[in-house]
Amino acid sequence: MDACCGNIGKTVLSRLLTVGCFVIIFLLMSPVYGQDVYAAAREKMVKYQLEGQGIRHKATLDAMRKVPRHLFVPSDLRAYAYDDGPLPIGYEQTISQPYMVAYMTETIRPAKGMKVLEIGTGSGYQAAVLAEIVDSVFTIEIVDPLGKQSSTLLKKLGYKNVKVRIGDGFAGWPEHGPYDAIIVTAAAEDIPPPLAAQLKEGGRLVIPIGSPGSVQILVLATRVNGKLKQQNLLPVRFVPFTREQ
Ligand code: SAH
Repeated sequence: MDACCGNIGKTVLSRLLTVGCFVIIFLLMSPVYGQDVYAAAREKMVKYQLEGQGIRHKATLDAMRKVPRHLFVPSDLRAYAYDDGPLPIGYEQTISQPYMVAYMTETIRPAKGMKVLEIGTGSGYQAAVLAEIVDSVFTIEIVDPLGKQSSTLLKKLGYKNVKVRIGDGFAGWPEHGPYDAIIVTAAAEDIPPPLAAQLKEGGRLVIPIGSPGSVQILVLATRVNGKLKQQNLLPVRFVPFTREQ
């Protein structure tokens, strides 16, 4: 009799413990569940839009698997953050399509130890992707509120290796140069000479060249023996590179 009651007591106790464990595990994981909706979307984005379209650079793929792109788009557009296209971020500017971010990142061959300059911070997403891979990122944005907003977000997300400056990126950021690589995310008529001058020997610069509204070409410029060697990559459409009045 005693043994029987003892068994029932043990069974109830062990069930309670089991249920308790599940409740604790669920509570511990619930904040992760919220993130998981986006983690799955991110995984799909990487698989179909990036790997599926030929992006092979592992560090780029890993960075884009990690950076929470939905936090870099306006909150009413979060549901579309991992779609295959650019999105408006206000002030007539856009966050580039994931494939374009990956393609430009892969093109500069980012690696640990590198120092990269970006012109056109916009949402800060490209800067965050680079910051996952290289040692330091210097990024310049001409639209004051966009620069402030992305600087705040990048700090909040813990990217201590990104410095945002507000101003015209035409002159680059010579105080921190020369750079291993430079990414320009707005379409210019030509490569701004100060940017070319701030590129290290062997360094890679990627920039959309062309007039707004017309076909632009993504160009890769490499510094070889002091001279810039240019190569056309693919037709693209970017917002215009503007100048401070
Ligand atoms: N890299 C961004 C894409 C932003 S779109 C992202 O990941 O979201 C291009 C950005 O370049 C715009 O925000 C635009 O304001 C900025 N821009 C245009 N001309 C510029 C200039 N001369 N100097 C700095 N930023 C410029």
